[in-house]
Amino acid sequence: MGKYSKQVINELVEGTLEWYQIKEMMSSYKDAERFELYREVMQSRVDWDDPILLPLGLHLYIVQKENGKRMVKCDCGHEFCDYKENWKLHANVFVRDSEEKMNEVYPKLMSPDPEWQVIREYYCPECASQLEVEAVTPWYPVIHDFEPDIDAFYNDWVKVPLPKVK
Ligand SMILES: [Zn+2]
Repeated sequence: MGKYSKQVINELVEGTLEWYQIKEMMSSYKDAERFELYREVMQSRVDWDDPILLPLGLHLYIVQKENGKRMVKCDCGHEFCDYKENWKLHANVFVRDSEEKMNEVYPKLMSPDPEWQVIREYYCPECASQLEVEAVTPWYPVIHDFEPDIDAFYNDWVKVPLPKVK
């Protein structure tokens, strides 16, 4: 399998690989066959049929809809929004902004000072999976971190046809 073994692809799909590694891997995906395999593995792990275009995190995907739209979708089937919008604004958010709330996840004394840093946790409104955690200063805007150029990725990079709605 060359540079990325089946184990790596499995870890990737299991969500045990860090997101920065995923991005790095995606950008080195010049092997169309390997990418197709990866896409198939992802697709086989969800119960719905919308073709997955790209993963967007541990539980989220960008999928192709019949109407031509590309939506952010959770593995449980919940659809958030168009992929160009910030899905976090459509998620349930829990903000740890007090010592008490910090101490639920951090040991005492190791937790950040809530005056300087808060923890934002984003959850799927349907299945309650934790989708992302952000540690930011309290006034920091909600981060919109990744807006991939899907067409360029398929057409110019891996050079495989975009998956079509069946
Ligand atoms: Zn969900």
